[in-house]
Amino acid sequence: MTTTEPVLVIGAGVIGLSTAVVLAESGVPVRIRTDERSAETTSAVAGAMWGPALLQPADRVQTWVTDTYRRLVELAADDTSGVHLAAGRMAARIDLGDQLPPEALLLPDLRRCTPDELPDGFLSGYRATVPLIDMPRYLDHLTARFLAAGGELLLSPVSSLTEAVEEASRVVNCTGVGAHELVGDPGVRPVRGQHVIVRNPGITDYFVEIGPGTEPTAYMPHGDRVVLGSVAFEQDWSRTPEREITAAILRRCADVEPLLAGAEVLGEAVGLRPGRDAIRLESERFGGTVVHNYGHSGCGVALSWGCAAEAAELVLSG
Ligand SMILES: Cc1cc2nc3c(=O)[nH]c(=O)nc-3n(C[C@H](O)[C@H](O)[C@H](O)COP(=O)(O)OP(=O)(O)OC[C@H]3O[C@@H](n4cnc5c(N)ncnc54)[C@H](O)[C@@H]3O)c2cc1C
Repeated sequence: MTTTEPVLVIGAGVIGLSTAVVLAESGVPVRIRTDERSAETTSAVAGAMWGPALLQPADRVQTWVTDTYRRLVELAADDTSGVHLAAGRMAARIDLGDQLPPEALLLPDLRRCTPDELPDGFLSGYRATVPLIDMPRYLDHLTARFLAAGGELLLSPVSSLTEAVEEASRVVNCTGVGAHELVGDPGVRPVRGQHVIVRNPGITDYFVEIGPGTEPTAYMPHGDRVVLGSVAFEQDWSRTPEREITAAILRRCADVEPLLAGAEVLGEAVGLRPGRDAIRLESERFGGTVVHNYGHSGCGVALSWGCAAEAAELVLSG
């Protein structure tokens, strides 16, 4: 997979950076153009954990999430990557039954929670060690790899796909929720999330609520900080943290983990998950080759390497 023709990647969230790293590390000249710095993207807000991704297209999602799991486990061996393996619980307020998504079987120590491991109000759950990703550090790691491989990163919004293909005959569109405007895709919708970051009072395990609901309780430790969440509000474009949501997140997390009660708040952050009925990862002829790689909803980190590899293959074969 080598070529000397440049590729333009639009977007420097986890999807754009991963795609750009795959291309640049295989010897392809790559330029990223992004509207915002990586630290300001939705990707920087994510918790983030690798976990099963119940998205469409299901068979391809299965491949992408498996591929990404393997890459993240490898990265966890590198202290500077921002990825580490953590034990914890995924629990639901409903009975999850016995059906597990196939990718859950990748987790070597996965087992059902015993009743005494479930917080009040939760009916079922699993314990497992998973990759946790400290997103600000991880995005820095990806950026450093991209630049070390000779990539160029420009803070420069792209106003249309026409403008993009005039600049480069091969383009990868990794604009997340920005695809709503850039390609006029009405199927992309914001699913607003909010996190609260607190000083770590001594937590090493994660907790993630799974199942239905728009206010899942979650906390994920990253060294001296813990990221607490969250909400999932559809069609809400606001990127301003709301005080009442922060208070509710703190309350729900403290109910599950009393150590978090009164933890020092270091910050709040809002991100817009790029919701879509199905992830769009496909090639289009548009004056050049445009590969779309967006719409990863609440699982972009968990799908990032698998999607990056396929997007890179598509753009180089186009
Ligand atoms: C609270 C919260 C918790 C989450 N937790 C998890 C988790 O635990 N695990 C997980 O896998 N996922 C999680 N997610 C989802 C994950 O964050 C997203 O799926 C992922 O960040 C999407 O990445 P992206 O690169 O597509 O989009 P973004 O991070 O939004 O990046 C889009 C990029 O495109 C650029 N862009 C847009 N339009 C233009 C334009 N016209 N010109 C130039 N640049 C443009 C932007 O500036 C940005 O650089 C969470 C999300 C939130 C909000």
